[in-house]
Amino acid sequence: MPQARAVGWALAAAMLTTACQPGPGAPTPVLWPGGATTGPLDIRIAYPREGSRQPTDQGLVIVADSSVVMQSRDSVFIFGSVGRADAVLVVNGVAVPVYHTGGWIAWLPLPPDTLARFDLVAVARGDTARATLVARVRRLFEPPPSPSWIDTTSFAPVGSLWVRPDEPVRLEVRATPEASVRLLLPTGDTVALVRRDGFQFIAEGERAFGTRPPGELTRAWDRYVGSGIGPFGPDPGDVLAPLPTPGPTDSSWVRLEAIVGDDTARARWPLRVGVVDPARPRVIYVDDDTAGTGLTDSALAGRAAPYATYHWFFPTGTVAAVNGRWNDQIRLRLSRASVAWVDAVEVHPLPVGTPPPGGTTGGSVRLFPEERAVTLRVPLPARIPFRVDEDERSLRLTLYGMAADLDFMQYGPEDPLIRRLWFAQPREDETEIRVDLAAPVWGYRTRWRGSDLLLVIRRPPEIDQRRPLRGRRIAVDPGHPPLGAVGPTGVREPEVTLAVGRKLQRLLERAGATVILLRSSDAPIDLAPRVVHAERADADVLVSIHANALPDGVNPFINNGTSVYYFQPRSLELARALNRALVRQFGFRDLGVGRADLALARPTWMPAALCEGLFLMLPDQEAVLASEEGQWRYARGIVEGLEEFLRGSAAR
Ligand SMILES: [Zn+2]
Repeated sequence: MPQARAVGWALAAAMLTTACQPGPGAPTPVLWPGGATTGPLDIRIAYPREGSRQPTDQGLVIVADSSVVMQSRDSVFIFGSVGRADAVLVVNGVAVPVYHTGGWIAWLPLPPDTLARFDLVAVARGDTARATLVARVRRLFEPPPSPSWIDTTSFAPVGSLWVRPDEPVRLEVRATPEASVRLLLPTGDTVALVRRDGFQFIAEGERAFGTRPPGELTRAWDRYVGSGIGPFGPDPGDVLAPLPTPGPTDSSWVRLEAIVGDDTARARWPLRVGVVDPARPRVIYVDDDTAGTGLTDSALAGRAAPYATYHWFFPTGTVAAVNGRWNDQIRLRLSRASVAWVDAVEVHPLPVGTPPPGGTTGGSVRLFPEERAVTLRVPLPARIPFRVDEDERSLRLTLYGMAADLDFMQYGPEDPLIRRLWFAQPREDETEIRVDLAAPVWGYRTRWRGSDLLLVIRRPPEIDQRRPLRGRRIAVDPGHPPLGAVGPTGVREPEVTLAVGRKLQRLLERAGATVILLRSSDAPIDLAPRVVHAERADADVLVSIHANALPDGVNPFINNGTSVYYFQPRSLELARALNRALVRQFGFRDLGVGRADLALARPTWMPAALCEGLFLMLPDQEAVLASEEGQWRYARGIVEGLEEFLRGSAAR
């Protein structure tokens, strides 16, 4: 975007003068000033993480860690510290505010190069420190000067793909605008690609977090689409076998041509397509814990498209037929109308010739009341794929690949939680069973017993309106390690979240709750064991504590503040109550709640939410998160949010 580049410096300077100011409509932040930092003048870079520091005659040369490649198109943030509150800092000629901690963050235009260079000069009390930061930037394809070109980084799809015999493969590529673009198959046939008009380019980080209006997006005229049917490229082999190593010299590769006048650009399309036999499909069973650790969530996530959001959760033992694959993503056939994509490493082949599960189920569906739950037992012909959908006061079980011939639906003794059972057969091979509840859904889980599916529905806890936390079991998850964000002066997210978690534990226990602290030391704990811990401890609610950070390329001065994430519908009210209370406590901008596919927000056994209290990468918010007062406010906000949620749930 040349126009943006031309005004970039002025824009950056203007943004920096408003750095750390609240946005329109935001309350005035309440800051808790620590003393001004008066250490030695010393330029430190927190992001991109430093790899090496080399003193030279011209000043310090800091080379970013080689594993960091900045993913941005035109602007990027860098942040760090100068060690002193009274320092004046200039980066690439732009004044950058220094916070009382010595921390700073800058939002700067990027050169059109694979190496970005930032010159930093810090001055304090007549003392001057100079540093040059060098960081790698993702290489974007630059069209060559020739009339025709093909962007070889833009082929989609690439790798190994298996489809049904009648299934077209959609192909997309970037090449010279106004070119004639075609695929040459090894058979001698050609497939013409047509231009995809008015394609709008939006970088992913910008799409998720950016606030630029749609009118400012870049329109692209260089995208071409087409479709091909049948196998092409070298044979990809067995759909369930490990992927073969590509052989670049194989004559069976498909080639692409982009022709402008008498100039032709040519490239090999790195894709091999195989065909699965629908009459003799391979059948798999699910096992997400091949190592036998017992610490996985024992569920395989299914997605509507490769690498898309989790939509199904198939317990270990589920059996399904395979009807496609793309690299490490396997496509399961659930019914005639439904497929789910899953990770290849979590499925295991059954012997060739094993028929797909399904058929008809007979027998009776029955409810079993227990003290803390009601269990629905569904007899099935096999461990077939299913899905549970929740509404505010109902759970719907969809069973794939079968018709039902149920003799009875037995309620058992009258139960205050159960209103009615519904049955439907919306398609020949999909069956639905719905349980209507007398109270909002609190939690559920599913498991196999033989080929019976058990849906365990949790009874809501009895809430004391005056002391809503009394007797509650609250799982508190201090986010990270592994990983975690870092602030300009080096404050680490795992330290902040543990400090907040401990304070929260004290407040919750004082309010009469039992706390299950999912991390209590610096030792890393993966995500799945945290969820397993909370479920085994039978927590009533799970709250995960984090500090936020942005992806490269998103302006941190207009995208920061407080937000809370949920995944299951019943957790939305929890997320809202937490977000309201945290915004009140912190006084920074309200980014609102969001639905996000996060492990700690996904449990089904209890309402769960993940708090992104503030942004650690902004110096003022880092100072709040690092302070005792700020951490107490974070903890108090969570307590207030939990109380509001629990009171509200008792009233619903
Ligand atoms: Zn985090």
